Amino acid sequence: MSRIKEDVKVYQLYINGEFKDSYGSKMKTVSNPASGEVISQIPEATIEEVKFAVDSAEKAQKSWAKLPAIERAKHLREIANKIRENEEHLAKTITEEQGKLISLARVEVNFTADYIDYMAEWARRYDGEVVQSDRSNEHIFMFKKPIGVVSGILPWNFPFFLIARKMAPALVTGNTIVIKPSTETPNNAFEFAKLVSETKLPKGVFNLVSGSGSVVGNELSSNEQIGMVSFTGGVDTGTRIMKAAAENIIKVSLELGGKAPAIVMDDADLELAVNSIKQSRIINNGQVCNCAERVYVHEKVADVFIQKLSEAMKDTKSGNPMDESTEIGPLINEAGVLQIEKLVEDAKKRGAKIITGGKRVVSATGLYYEPTVLTNVTQDMDIVQQEIFGPVLPVMTFKDLDEAIHLANDSEYGLTSSIYTQNLDVAMKVCEELQFGETYINRENFEAIQGFHAGWRKSGIGGADGKHGLEEYLQTHVVYLQYNQNKK
Ligand code: NAD
Repeated sequence: MSRIKEDVKVYQLYINGEFKDSYGSKMKTVSNPASGEVISQIPEATIEEVKFAVDSAEKAQKSWAKLPAIERAKHLREIANKIRENEEHLAKTITEEQGKLISLARVEVNFTADYIDYMAEWARRYDGEVVQSDRSNEHIFMFKKPIGVVSGILPWNFPFFLIARKMAPALVTGNTIVIKPSTETPNNAFEFAKLVSETKLPKGVFNLVSGSGSVVGNELSSNEQIGMVSFTGGVDTGTRIMKAAAENIIKVSLELGGKAPAIVMDDADLELAVNSIKQSRIINNGQVCNCAERVYVHEKVADVFIQKLSEAMKDTKSGNPMDESTEIGPLINEAGVLQIEKLVEDAKKRGAKIITGGKRVVSATGLYYEPTVLTNVTQDMDIVQQEIFGPVLPVMTFKDLDEAIHLANDSEYGLTSSIYTQNLDVAMKVCEELQFGETYINRENFEAIQGFHAGWRKSGIGGADGKHGLEEYLQTHVVYLQYNQNKK
């Protein structure tokens, strides 16, 4: 039986500027993956409550869109400042429910505030167009307008940042939003709602409903009052959301999984490659969509590289994520560990060799997995083709760049990729031929606020961040204005 924390928190839905209990009175418990303790109870919203949240967002949207964008931006900046004032409390909330290292949780909190400020800056910068007409005395105006109500459905791995990634571009462009956090990590979203409730943001502009994907998530994907569903999560869920959204032709923006290849050439700075690939693989305890998940190393440097990588992975301190010296914390839940065990066991049965790691770490919850390196893997193995949310790296060798590019592209995912080389010609060939939304050259995988994070193939549709991410939340209204009809 799980232990229950003394000051277990009980959260309420946040709809139309008010916190309220769910009428359904069904509550779900949330646990700390490092200790197993029950830390909170969250409401499972009913369909009627989700509809009420969407309704509130729709009513609020009309006057919100009429505010000058710079006024909307002021509200966003007020939220960003509140986040900074509450950095430590928010970081501890994230770590407690997700198992993220406290140092990374602080980065997530500050990055979220910066992201909101960045999107607020677009208030004076996004614009429409006036284009040439084929007729005399005519102007063609292209207005950029908000879509209306946006729903944001979130995963658990960067739960706090993802609220902002959806809310900030939606709100600055005049949309309102209903957010659904993951049931694994809802607490930070409720703490976020508390901060929002202390600001002057008009009622109904930001709403938060919690509950299951099949009920709350499904309603937020299919409700005809919603103009766009912005989803981040797995491919299977993305497929279900797209089908549900098709019912009312709702626009979808899908940020899905990844299986990022890292290519290490024979001229690479091996220290840099080992450190960057290791950091990329263990950050957030190995649970990031964009991080290096399979390595292709040139056969000439394979032995040295594998030895250095294995030593570095082995030399990783696992422990309590609240402890500042810990380098890797727990995985999110038992299902996550079982999935890794299945992939590693399957690879072993098919001839893979474990160089380091390969099993669970004995711990309070049993949710820790050893940083693992495998060789003797082949391209057709699940461990090379399926997403692994844990610190596991399969390594293969290649003879020449064409082979490496072919192997890297051979994936149903197309989110991120990386290459380590000191040869400009090689780097440029890779820019031409790798088929991914992002490629990192001689650095770890991690996107910038002003970039554009968008997956190819099954990694998604649409994208986030920067100018292009902002434009996802706008639709175009073309107006043809004929004037002075009677005068030549
Ligand atoms: P998930 O797909 O299991 O769940 C994500 C959200 O979808 C949750 O809130 C869940 O309740 C909801 N959901 C589940 N079923 C639903 C349904 N039928 N309709 C509507 N909503 C539903 O994903 P997860 O396990 O929380 O997160 C891990 C996944 O997220 C990984 O695949 C990872 O790669 C991906 N991810 C991608 C990015 C990116 O930017 N591309 C970023 C972070 C995470």
